[in-house]
Amino acid sequence: MDRRPTLLVLGGTTEATQLITRLAPHVGRNLDLVVSFAGRTARPSAPAGELRIGGFGGAEGLASYLRETPIDLVVDALHPFASVMPFHAATACEAVGRPLIKLQRPPWRPVDGDRWIEVPDMTAAAAAVVDAGATRVLLTIGRQELDPFRSIAGPTFVVRSIEPADLAGAWRTVERLDRGPFDLAAERSLLDAEAIDLVVAKNSGGAATESKLVAARERGIPVVLVQRPPVPEVATVTSVDEAFGWVERRVQLAG
Ligand code: NAP
Repeated sequence: MDRRPTLLVLGGTTEATQLITRLAPHVGRNLDLVVSFAGRTARPSAPAGELRIGGFGGAEGLASYLRETPIDLVVDALHPFASVMPFHAATACEAVGRPLIKLQRPPWRPVDGDRWIEVPDMTAAAAAVVDAGATRVLLTIGRQELDPFRSIAGPTFVVRSIEPADLAGAWRTVERLDRGPFDLAAERSLLDAEAIDLVVAKNSGGAATESKLVAARERGIPVVLVQRPPVPEVATVTSVDEAFGWVERRVQLAG
């Protein structure tokens, strides 16, 4: 190959940023890097590599992109709740014969004292809120999937998101704009100041947003925890170290 091997990282997560930071010293020397974002947040950035923003046009569009760019290997470092793109990556990489690894942090597991109500999706989460009879609900699910909650009259929802959400609907809301990581002291203060008696969250896993679960556990507050969507059957690692090692084995990073 008379050009440098090119890696595509499907990003949008802390782990993607950490992996890119590890790879940064090699970018432009032993490796070219493209970092892809869906374009959901206003100013995506990466510590190294060329950014590309927006969808590829389905699995077929991604397959063409991999062939034409060309891309030699792919890391799916998407969020555990990205439900469509991982399947597109698996299909496209299979179709054009590119190695793919999925980097996905482990889910949270309950420990003594947790009062989790585990549900499969947002519709079930909304039903669980109604059943729980809560009065003040911390909704920490981002801003894209609020629809099932809009018609719930009764509780006040403290809606936390990075960017402003559309809060239209019959529900009563308090907007809270904030970006993780969230530390335990801040999560304790939030639950106490807002008199929260129910938390709704996704089982994202990872340290950056775990403190709300600890603060809820300490207070005996139940947590409606939405389970992860299905994933494609592809080689998967759970740590940035392992993903870095996978790239290193395929690309001559030394020298
Ligand atoms: P999704 O439902 O799996 O994907 C929907 C469509 O968005 C895909 O079909 C693809 O469009 C495009 N897309 C998704 N990720 C992309 C990427 N990294 N680069 C280019 N196009 C991408 O994904 P999502 O749940 O909307 O998440 C979008 C992004 O936000 C992902 O990068 C994800 O890691 C990040 N994120 C998601 C969550 C969450 O809770 N869902 C939380 C934090 C961060 P085409 O079919 O046109 O290619």
